[in-house]
Amino acid sequence: MISKEHITNRFINYVTIDTESDPNSDTTPSTKKQWNLANKLAEELKTIGMQEVSIDENAYVMATLPSNVELDVPTIGFIAHFDTSPDFTGANVNPQIHKNYLGGDILLNKEEQIVLSPDYFEDLRLYIGQTLITTDGTTLLGADDKAGICEIVSAMEYLIKNPEIKHGRIRVGFTPDEEIGRGAHKFDVKKFGADWAYTMDGSQIGELEYENFNAAGAVVNVKGKIVHPGYAKGKMINSMYIATEFINSLPRMETPEHTEGYQGFFHLCAVKGKVEETTLEYIIRDHDRKHFEARKEVMQKLTDELNNQYGSEVIVTEIKDQYYNMREKIEPVLHIVDIAEQAMKEIGITPLIKAIRGGTDGSQLSYMGLPCPNIFAGGHNFHGRYEYVPVESMIKATEVICKIAELTAQKPVN
Ligand SMILES: [Zn+2]
Repeated sequence: MISKEHITNRFINYVTIDTESDPNSDTTPSTKKQWNLANKLAEELKTIGMQEVSIDENAYVMATLPSNVELDVPTIGFIAHFDTSPDFTGANVNPQIHKNYLGGDILLNKEEQIVLSPDYFEDLRLYIGQTLITTDGTTLLGADDKAGICEIVSAMEYLIKNPEIKHGRIRVGFTPDEEIGRGAHKFDVKKFGADWAYTMDGSQIGELEYENFNAAGAVVNVKGKIVHPGYAKGKMINSMYIATEFINSLPRMETPEHTEGYQGFFHLCAVKGKVEETTLEYIIRDHDRKHFEARKEVMQKLTDELNNQYGSEVIVTEIKDQYYNMREKIEPVLHIVDIAEQAMKEIGITPLIKAIRGGTDGSQLSYMGLPCPNIFAGGHNFHGRYEYVPVESMIKATEVICKIAELTAQKPVN
């Protein structure tokens, strides 16, 4: 249906525009350069025949494909982000196309001897015989999430060119700053006006996700007392020792390196300490809301205990919720996951439904009133030099979008 060449060219057009976001910026978008792709996307959406194309003051791009059925069917949306991760440079991306991948090592960069190898990245073996797009080893690729954008635009173009495929009203939305956790922050859910949506921001072909972590961040501040070490007996309070007690009192096996699947954790991200003051930065993650709340309580209790033990407020712990598991919001409308699952099956993809050990823009959007599961965009090894995407997976994702549109138009709004 969609030619490999066409989708490859579109993808390369996007990834060669640098759109790295910046967590240290307060503006939206966080970097000016994101406008370059945002403006281009708005133009392209007009060119392919989309309607109500808009770009707001924060660079959020939206557009509509009007319904072509008489029936009153739901309005659905497809969402992707155009920024790339600040974890690795996204400037001067030089995509390499490897046709008919034979299953061996791919030399990304001869001078620096950077090799993409299936011995390390086993997923590569899933794509033998396919066309892979990789980096040249010096940048990330940006398939996260420009593959998603490419698929959404290609699907809309296909539906416009093939009006015999019946679909309801479709909204598309492209956002800045997802990689710094703000993609949903200024997303105008009301203006978007969809009954539900899908982010096209997953990885491997078949992925379909509607569960993610509940997430909080904790800052533990420990106050000490500095006194001349020669005359400190009974006077000095060394905040680093108290902080160490705090660290060691949390369950050592409930950490990222010891957990998987549905197991939650406390993750100590940073320690900054001297005698007078030590700060611990934690993140707390758990799929289960009760366990999540219990984890926060454990930290608070430990704080109280240590304060009692030292007879004063030596520790202050501040915990802030970051996002919640979208499952709570998706379960009442589980048919939106069923439709995506059915769409995949109908075009010969085995759905891989699993819980995300992280968050997505979709989790925030779900709590903002737009239920929003996540679908694969096809790429692997995000946020680094080994990132790659099989062109065939992008085509399949495009087909999934078209099929979801078609399936949704078969049932009237009830
Ligand atoms: Zn992404």
